[in-house]
Amino acid sequence: MTQMLPSAAVLGARAFAALAGLNRFSDEPGKLTRLYLSPAHKQAAEWVKGAMEVAGLTASIDAAGSVQGRREGTVPGAPAVLIGSHIDTVKDAGRFDGNLGVVAGILAAQALRDAGISLPFPLEVVAFGDEENVRFPTHLSTSEALAGHYDPTWLDARDAEGVKLSDALVAFGGNPAGIPALARKPGSIRAYLELHIEQGPVLEAENEPVGIVTTINAQSRARVRVSGEAGHAGTVPMALRKDALTAAAEMALALEEIASGHELAVGTVGVFRPHPGATNVVPGAVEFTIDYRAPRNETLAAMEAAIRARFGEIAARRGVGLDIAPYARAAAVPMDAGLQDAFATGISRTGSNLAARRLPSGAGHDAMTVAAIAPAAMLFVRNEKGISHSPLENMTEADAGIAIRVLLETILALAEAAK
Ligand SMILES: [Zn+2]
Repeated sequence: MTQMLPSAAVLGARAFAALAGLNRFSDEPGKLTRLYLSPAHKQAAEWVKGAMEVAGLTASIDAAGSVQGRREGTVPGAPAVLIGSHIDTVKDAGRFDGNLGVVAGILAAQALRDAGISLPFPLEVVAFGDEENVRFPTHLSTSEALAGHYDPTWLDARDAEGVKLSDALVAFGGNPAGIPALARKPGSIRAYLELHIEQGPVLEAENEPVGIVTTINAQSRARVRVSGEAGHAGTVPMALRKDALTAAAEMALALEEIASGHELAVGTVGVFRPHPGATNVVPGAVEFTIDYRAPRNETLAAMEAAIRARFGEIAARRGVGLDIAPYARAAAVPMDAGLQDAFATGISRTGSNLAARRLPSGAGHDAMTVAAIAPAAMLFVRNEKGISHSPLENMTEADAGIAIRVLLETILALAEAAK
C-alpha cells in the first residue's frame, strides 16, 4: 500500500506550500512573530483547523488554545497515535520551528486518507500554542494541559503589558475552566510523534536529512556572582588586585573545559555583567549566568560538582567571593525506545541511503511533557547551518519531504505492529 502514498518530493512541495499559507499569520508585519493567544495565533489556529478538516480530520480549538484534529481508526477503543508540535513562535522567528511538525501531521493524515488507508488506531494531529516561553512566563502549558499537569496558577501569569493569561485565553476564545478536562486518560495514547527542525548543525555536518532523537537533554541554569574589590585602574598594582572580571573570565573558561570533557554535553555563559563597568576601574563584581546541558542526569550532576569545585578553587586562589544560585533545572527526558526503532524502520523504508542517525536534543520540546503520560519520540530534520530562532532558519524542501515520508512510513509500521 506504500506505493499509493505521495513521494517525498511531492510531500516536500506540499509542506512548503502549506507553510507559506500558515506563516502569513504574524503579529508583526514583515516578520514571523506569533505569540501565545495573540491575534496571529488565533488566525493561525483557525487556518490549522481548516487544513485539518480538509485532510479529513474532525478538528476543534480546545480550551487552552491548542488545535486538535482526529480521525477514528478501525479498532474501537484503540489508543491513538498523535502527531504534534507547536504554532507559536519566538519574535522574528524562523518558518519551520514548530510549524513544520504541525504541517507534517496534517499532510500525513491527508496522504493516508487520499490513499484509502485505514488505520487500526485513531490518528490525531495537535498544534500546541505555548512552547516558546515568550509572551507569558509559562512554558509548554498547552501540552502540559494534554498531559494533565497544568498548574492552575499559570492562569494568573501576566505578559509584559500586564495582561493576565486567563483573560488572554478568554479573549482568544478559550476556556480556563475547561482545561482540566483536556487531560488524556492514561493508556489512551499509543504514541506521540513530533517532527521538528534540528535547531543545530549536527545532521548537516553528517550529511543526513533526518535524525532520531534519543533524549531531551537534562539542563541546569544558575546565576553566578563574583565579588572582588573595585579599584583605580591606574594605581592598584597587579599583585594587590582582587579583579572580579578576570576571576569570572577564568570561570567561564573552566565551564567550557568541563563541558568539553563530557560527551554530548554543552556549557554556555550567555550573560556577563561587570560592575561598575568603567574603563578606568578594576571591576569590583561580576554577575554572569551559566547554562549547561547533557543527555544523562548523572552527567549533569558530575558537571555541577565540577563547576562548584573549579569555580571555588578559582575564587579562593584569587581572593574573591563566589555565590552560585541555581534557578532552573530539568531532568533528561529519554524518548521511547520502541518508537525510536519505529522511526528507524520508517527511515529504512524511505530510502536505502539514509542512516538512522540518533542524537540528543539540546532544546526543550512539547514531546517532553507528553512523554510523562505516553510513549513519545521525535524526528529531527536537517537545519541549514544549525540556525534557528531567526528568520535565517532554513531547510530544503527535499529534506522536509523525506521527513514527512518517514513519518508516514513510521505510522504504517505502527499500524502493522498493532494488527
Ligand atoms: Zn520548536
